[in-house]
Amino acid sequence: MDRYHKVSDLKAPGPRLRAGGEVDSYCGRCKLMLEHTILAMQAGEPVRTICNTCKSQHRYRPHPPGQGPAPKRSRQKASGTWAEAPKARPPKAWQEAVAGKDLSRSEPYSPQATFETGQVIMHGKFGLGIVMGTKPGGKIIVVFEDDTRLFVHGRGQGPGSKGSEK
Ligand SMILES: [Zn+2]
Repeated sequence: MDRYHKVSDLKAPGPRLRAGGEVDSYCGRCKLMLEHTILAMQAGEPVRTICNTCKSQHRYRPHPPGQGPAPKRSRQKASGTWAEAPKARPPKAWQEAVAGKDLSRSEPYSPQATFETGQVIMHGKFGLGIVMGTKPGGKIIVVFEDDTRLFVHGRGQGPGSKGSEK
């Protein structure tokens, strides 16, 4: 028996982790991290413990529920790098849209004016934009530095605008 004890001591990762020893575990009944007596070990880890406070037997839980040590920290790190990234560079659509365009010759946007694909417009709220295309129903697709938006145009001319009032 003495020899067996020595071998299991060498194998154990911590000095006190062995059946009959004590370990801090989360007790679902006390809802606290408490000292537990280890009832059974498996692969160097306690698997079954008994709460020294309420004497209830349960699985060994090294952390309170939802409080894993490693996963949470790495997730925070990932979201931290995300937070810095978003506005670092303009969308590719904008870079492609402005290529070869003379931004100094922009047309002020107004729903009454009519625009064509490729035109540079100046929107009162969103600033410089490039008309990337038109849509049926009198709409234009405009790429801005931060986003792509849809606007109406041609509302002041052409047939069908009869009786438009302000
Ligand atoms: Zn307990």
